Amino acid sequence: MKNIEIIESLQGNTFKFLSDYSQIAVLVDENTVEYCYPLVQKLFPKHSLIEIKSGEEYKNLETCTEIWERLTKLGFDRHSVLLNLGGGVIGDMGGFCASTYKRGIDFVQIPTTLLSQVDASVGGKLGIDFYGFKNHIGLFQEPNQVVICSAFLKTLPDRQMRSGFAEVVKHAFIRDAKHWAEIKSKKINEQDWHKIISHSVQLKYEVVEADPTERNLRKILNFGHTIGHAVESFFLEKRYRKLFHGEAVAIGMIAEAYISFRKNFISGSEYFEIRDYLIQVFGKVEIKASELTSIAELAIHDKKNKEGVILASLLESVGTANYNQEITLDEIKEALQVYEEA
Ligand code: NAD
Ligand code: ZN
Repeated sequence: MKNIEIIESLQGNTFKFLSDYSQIAVLVDENTVEYCYPLVQKLFPKHSLIEIKSGEEYKNLETCTEIWERLTKLGFDRHSVLLNLGGGVIGDMGGFCASTYKRGIDFVQIPTTLLSQVDASVGGKLGIDFYGFKNHIGLFQEPNQVVICSAFLKTLPDRQMRSGFAEVVKHAFIRDAKHWAEIKSKKINEQDWHKIISHSVQLKYEVVEADPTERNLRKILNFGHTIGHAVESFFLEKRYRKLFHGEAVAIGMIAEAYISFRKNFISGSEYFEIRDYLIQVFGKVEIKASELTSIAELAIHDKKNKEGVILASLLESVGTANYNQEITLDEIKEALQVYEEA
């Protein structure tokens, strides 16, 4: 894999390549400065620290302005580099700021959450939220280097860990039945994270390499996300029941596996196995009968739809996925109702 290094521990020579740069800045938030920065601080050459507030609500233009302002005041030229030390928010926004500062300086992704290690740091999608729309402004640009180390995960809260795990399971469902068999044979706290991350990143990398700008094959990575995003948006408005991305995607994968079963792609027993496993790991979220229509209707706004038709990526079998599959509001409602009755 080009420019991606997956390591079990951080060593002196991990960041040797940084010595060629004129100036170095490290982008962190209040959590990664406390938990992750101490692990790498001495391994970086002389650098400046740029700290922003953590959370999706800060992945916006105002924070970008702060970052660009700091780079400007530090006198960063085109031979400087920005190191993004944090989760997907830091990676997406730091990458976006670096790619646009003086028409683009180098940047390195050092993802510190499971989600950003197996998903956000691979594939070159960068951006910020705008006017309430997620990832509305951004670009495709590969980082100069990605350094993925499972040691960062020791301080990650359980719920964040599970949220990233949803993407790991997704990669297995759409691309590798054998990996799915290995994953389900162990409890989440018994997994070998270095091995899991290496495998998961490899799966995503191959898909992205075949279709970098998501014209065809890359769409399979959206399995679970058409309904998952709808569930995520619905619960976001109901603040007392906020769901993490992976938790919503787990529900989306159960619902979309059900639709795959109804379309005769996978068998009933395969669907039950997926459903029972995901409910065991992620728990069951209550969805009221009166909420089904509102959730289903949110799926109409999905970025991937075309001319008002809802397009999803479904499981062709366990281990392969298809894309551009038309699904209806009624199918979504039925799938969520069946989930609720599980
Ligand atoms: P995040 O960046 O908000 O991190 C989650 C929380 O964990 C934050 O509070 C952070 O400060 C904290 N944290 C990070 N590392 C830690 C560590 N090692 N120990 C303790 N705390 C730590 O969220 P995320 O889940 O990593 O990423 C979500 C973002 O990623 C979203 O904005 C999403 O749009 C984006 N994303 C992008 C892509 C892509 O292809 N570019 C793919 C998936 C998701
Ligand atoms: Zn996702």
